[in-house]
Amino acid sequence: MNKKDLPFLASKLNEMFPNAKTELYYTNNFQLLIAILMSAQATDKQVNIINKNFFNFLKKPGDAKKLWLEEITEFINSISFFNNKAKNILKTCEILDKNYSWKVPNTIEELTKLPWVWIKTAKVYLAVTQNAPYIWVDTHVHRVLNRLWLVKTKNPLETDKVISKGFTKENHALLHNTLVLFWRYYCTARNPKCDTCPFKEKCNYYKKNHSN
Ligand code: SF4
Repeated sequence: MNKKDLPFLASKLNEMFPNAKTELYYTNNFQLLIAILMSAQATDKQVNIINKNFFNFLKKPGDAKKLWLEEITEFINSISFFNNKAKNILKTCEILDKNYSWKVPNTIEELTKLPWVWIKTAKVYLAVTQNAPYIWVDTHVHRVLNRLWLVKTKNPLETDKVISKGFTKENHALLHNTLVLFWRYYCTARNPKCDTCPFKEKCNYYKKNHSN
């Protein structure tokens, strides 16, 4: 594939995953931010199992006042880095409560002032809540774009830089949710479902592995 194929990729993925949206469980934007923070080094499934219960007690930042750090830690202790995550959830709630009248800010600049919110986290939050034109480039999206040869990069950071300049805003908005579902259900790290993949004829990885 090359950049000319991006409209085809975007329209096909939108056909495959109509109304694609994040699979993280949340009932409001504040919970979404907390769920995104928790999802570092964890799967959406693991995060959702915890949050179906945890979010009954944490509907808004002010609810954290009723919870001790130990209680938050206990709620989330089946997830990776739970000690750090619990501390940062509490700190984030305190800042949102004190400085933002419980509302999650909606700019990258302000979001990245919150603990553990990096540019990538802010982008995924804004993409989900406002359909902002950002693709969250993690190792999975990096893998898919390289397999398709839309980029030829060594790591997600490099991929992010290349597509920030090379993909239009429209492509970013169309691809951010669908690419996640595509790597999760088709282009998995091991045993990708190439045989049923609509992009196999244009996929460098497929061509290399099915050349005989
Ligand atoms: S053909 Fe296989 S490797 Fe290529 S994009 Fe599709 S699932 Fe991924």
